[in-house]
Amino acid sequence: MLDSPIQEIVCCMGQPVAGNPTQFMMERAFVAADIDWRYLTLEVSPENLADGIRGIRAMGFLGGHLTIPHKVAVVQHLDKLTEAAELAGAVNCVYRKGHLLVGEDTDGKGFIQSLQSITNPKRKKVVVFGAGGAARAIAVELGLARAAEITIVNRTAQRGQALVDLLNDRVDVPAKFVHLSGDYAVEEGTNIVVNATSIGFGDADARVPLDIESLSPDALVADLIFNPPDTKLIRDAVARGCTTLDGLGMLVSQAALAFKIWTGVKPDVAVMREALEEYLEI
Ligand code: NDP
Repeated sequence: MLDSPIQEIVCCMGQPVAGNPTQFMMERAFVAADIDWRYLTLEVSPENLADGIRGIRAMGFLGGHLTIPHKVAVVQHLDKLTEAAELAGAVNCVYRKGHLLVGEDTDGKGFIQSLQSITNPKRKKVVVFGAGGAARAIAVELGLARAAEITIVNRTAQRGQALVDLLNDRVDVPAKFVHLSGDYAVEEGTNIVVNATSIGFGDADARVPLDIESLSPDALVADLIFNPPDTKLIRDAVARGCTTLDGLGMLVSQAALAFKIWTGVKPDVAVMREALEEYLEI
């Protein structure tokens, strides 16, 4: 039983919803900031997405997260997109601006923020494995952050080429596509390698097809996978002497950005990180 009326509600729509680490972080951050808001996790099927968004409008929710499989489909139901969301063609966060519902991408920005705790991607030569929603979001932000060059390595050529075309034509960053077959050996001078595929999610021994010996020990290896965070790629990169970045920082950063967008208040990221680690039992 709630002892006070709920002030405002934000939500996460996805399918299937089997536990939500972001909800755990948000609820803790609301309490820490003394904000009487709630973050609801709602299972919404693809055929009900339009009604789900109408529900956000009708019930006066102040915003929400969109997760798999709604990040692209939601675009058509919103009134406006930010530049990054429009370029990525995907939205993971919606918020109100007057009577409008605006779509934003905090995945890409969250990644860049997490990356910048170690290095600035400006003028860096970057390899991104994957061309799905997360890869699109981070590649666009890497381009906007003026990376020197981005190589997209993907299993499905059409998706990979589409992302490369977007980067070359609209983000104005030199990009090329490599079709994934066998182990990919990075070119000399590669500074940053990112795994934005789902390889490793829920499987600590799943292997990203990367020739680890081709990496310079000076390179930085980032993995978006946060569960488990200590992926095989991260372990192999550490053994190679590389600097590494796991997916936890990005997950906290994207949530912190959404919190600030919705509430106007900067959350306590240490509280969010602690909540995430508690949730993941690490
Ligand atoms: P998508 O389903 O949109 O894309 C998945 C990508 O992985 C595609 O490029 C796909 O290639 C590739 N892929 C999957 N399996 C294989 C395989 N066996 N071999 C080679 N390539 C493979 O997912 P998202 O982009 O939304 O998410 C990707 C991962 O990033 C997820 O695991 C997610 O949990 C994580 N993530 C982490 C976040 C964080 O905050 N840390 C935030 C957002 C996502 P193909 O095109 O050929 O199918």
